[in-house]
Amino acid sequence: MHRLYENEDITVFWDSDKCRHAKMCVTGCPEVFEFTRKPWIILANGENKDIWQTIEKCPTKALTVTYNHEVNITLDKETHRSVATHNGTVIGECDYEITPEGWNIYHTEVDPSFGGKNIAKRLAFKVLEAAEKEKASVIATCSYVRKIVEG
Ligand code: SF4
Repeated sequence: MHRLYENEDITVFWDSDKCRHAKMCVTGCPEVFEFTRKPWIILANGENKDIWQTIEKCPTKALTVTYNHEVNITLDKETHRSVATHNGTVIGECDYEITPEGWNIYHTEVDPSFGGKNIAKRLAFKVLEAAEKEKASVIATCSYVRKIVEG
């Protein structure tokens, strides 16, 4: 399961397949990370620096975090893509098509001037989360997304 949790400044990624329930997160920041709650991560309950430090202690990298760099990520179900915008300009997208076998994520691209900011990962997680919430199978013919799916 792929989930992302966002506030104005940071995005937290959670890949449940990598979670070994070592609970370093729950111990480090119990107000933010609580497995018995839904959603189990509430960023508003903590300070970004505490959240960041806690995530760095996750032994399996099930949790990771990135700065948003003033880039917004949205899902556009009509055009079947997640979109990254900066000051209203589209600077990246992750495209999928709905097939009888599931959602095929076939293309991810980010403006090279925004490279190294984890924007492609945010775009991919946005689509993966939506597919999983709709209980759709995921076929990632995009090699970048396939690497994320295969861990
Ligand atoms: S610290 Fe990482 S591996 Fe441990 S419970 Fe939290 S998310 Fe899972």
